[in-house]
Amino acid sequence: MQDAISVINAGSSSLKFSVFSEQAGTLRRVLAGSIKGLGVSPRFLVSDESGRTMETKDWPNDASLSHEDATRFLFEDIPTRLRDYRIQAVGHRVVHGGEHYVAPVRVDSDVLGKLEALIPLAPLHQPHNLAPIRMILSSAPDLPQVACFDTAFHHTQARVEQAFALPPSITAHGVRRYGFHGLSYQYIASVMAQRDKALAGRVVVLHLGNGASMCAIRGGSSVATTMSFTALDGLPMGTRCGALDPGVLLYLMEELKMDVGQVRNLLYHQSGLLGVSGISSDMRTLEASDAEGAKEAINLFTYSINRQLGALVATLGGLDAIVFTAGIGENSILVRDRVCRGAAWLGLELDEAANRDGASCISTAASKVQAWVIPTDEEVVIADHTRRNIADARLGSDT
Ligand code: ADP
Repeated sequence: MQDAISVINAGSSSLKFSVFSEQAGTLRRVLAGSIKGLGVSPRFLVSDESGRTMETKDWPNDASLSHEDATRFLFEDIPTRLRDYRIQAVGHRVVHGGEHYVAPVRVDSDVLGKLEALIPLAPLHQPHNLAPIRMILSSAPDLPQVACFDTAFHHTQARVEQAFALPPSITAHGVRRYGFHGLSYQYIASVMAQRDKALAGRVVVLHLGNGASMCAIRGGSSVATTMSFTALDGLPMGTRCGALDPGVLLYLMEELKMDVGQVRNLLYHQSGLLGVSGISSDMRTLEASDAEGAKEAINLFTYSINRQLGALVATLGGLDAIVFTAGIGENSILVRDRVCRGAAWLGLELDEAANRDGASCISTAASKVQAWVIPTDEEVVIADHTRRNIADARLGSDT
């Protein structure tokens, strides 16, 4: 029997999972999959370590399958596929650790209560992240569970970077900039220094997926990031608005008579690429479209990235490299092309052929600032945190 670590990344309508085994100190993914379409028409897909699909299962039009049900299904299914492995712990992606949790934590019912208290800070993500934890805690209370936070990577930021210009009576409630996508940034930070020495210096990482943000990293630590109190701030995203004058909210409520629910729905679900284009939140669909709205949405997206890049370079006092990651960053030749051209003033010279061919380094040899494409892997970071956490706990109980 080999020990293995299971990782769960639960989003609003999906539950992604991976199982890692440790061999010679290295984590190896032995199983991966997802249940997508929760709340609509769920579909389970599982693939083996070579990425080959082993099985799919559908629950057609079954909106009643909850996150808890999906977790239960996985916990019955996974052991039947991994008879030579024993799951020794489960690591979870949890979007918000608040001010208190700046490192991964073993979850018991007390910690779960504290994480539930943070739901108002991330109402659309945190409840889904916590649902599998709660389910496993009640059905297998002795199985160690470790929560890994998207906010934690940013705790190295200076106080001034974390602050809003609000009075203490408000900031005392924890109203400050936190930042997200930290597990992705941590993964990129952990691999980039091995690639090139420029990547050990002043780097801006662009995590461009359905959710999108950018992070200024110096010597592997977060200096500044575009998301802040919630995952709404910064760049326009698939359906989220990104940075907005707070006065717009007052206008929506006072003049357009929108209530809180309508405003929330607008900002989270009806804005960004979808809102501007009126066509889709999906970059592939927009790139394939000739419609004016699609062009406008892509323009606003890449313009905002270049605008934020200027601000992040200021926080670093210069720039050695940028790194593209996540669905759009890893795959969109067009977006990378636009962003790199918009960064020519910084000394970045794009290697067009390298960008087109999907190379890892996409800047020319003469470029003063390098540009890289590095696929992210949040799950392996969670697995690594989880194995360290349980190893530390064992060490603690042995001494
Ligand atoms: P999530 O934040 O949900 O994890 P992903 O990182 O999977 O999102 O990114 C999804 C985005 O990546 C979508 O907008 C999708 O269109 C875009 N994307 C994926 N492949 C390509 C491609 N080949 N060209 C352009 N965009 C792509």
